[in-house]
Amino acid sequence: MSNTSKHEILIVDDDAAVRDTLALLLQSSGYDVTLAINGFDALLQLKRRLPAIVLSDLNMPQMSGFEFLSVVRRRFPSISVIAMSGAYHSGDSVPGGVIADAFYAKGHSDPGTLLQMVAGLIRTYAEHAVDHERESAPVWIPRNGKDSHGVPYVVLTCTDCLRSFPLSVTTEDLQKIQETPCLFCPNTVRYIIDFSLSVASPRTEGAITPINPGMRKAAKL
Ligand SMILES: [Zn+2]
Repeated sequence: MSNTSKHEILIVDDDAAVRDTLALLLQSSGYDVTLAINGFDALLQLKRRLPAIVLSDLNMPQMSGFEFLSVVRRRFPSISVIAMSGAYHSGDSVPGGVIADAFYAKGHSDPGTLLQMVAGLIRTYAEHAVDHERESAPVWIPRNGKDSHGVPYVVLTCTDCLRSFPLSVTTEDLQKIQETPCLFCPNTVRYIIDFSLSVASPRTEGAITPINPGMRKAAKL
């Protein structure tokens, strides 16, 4: 190994076997590796020190990878991120708006692919950081379920103070960026509701009938 300082990679996965396998692979290629068991754990670690790259699973309990990576992009724009999942075979099939610089299809790609990805991102580290600074990424949040009154709610994590608070969802706007003031600080949180985590809620098919703007105009005339 050369005597240049090692690049650090934070691996975030709820599966211990995956964490250990990836850690061995990356360590044997000369990287410093730190581990986090979920998004909350990873955010705590990021407040102490910043790795060059975050490699995160997308499908994790509590805080999904979509949500975690969107917070990383907002809060730590210098970090390059690789999203990984066993649920998608390629980056093209991942839902739009995922905040990642690269996608690793866990279980479908060979380790050499991941090492190339990591090396590539470290080579282009500076330009990524500049690109990220310019972006204003919304937060991805999972649907959490329904409160005691049967009203669906989500839990938002503020991109500034990193505190979480619940928010009632009165309309389910698919893939639409929405805004709400943080409950704890003056920040406005921009978010997209993450439908990748299935929550058992009855479909309300037919309840919302889209009105064709042309028709509405015609009715007024
Ligand atoms: Zn806040």
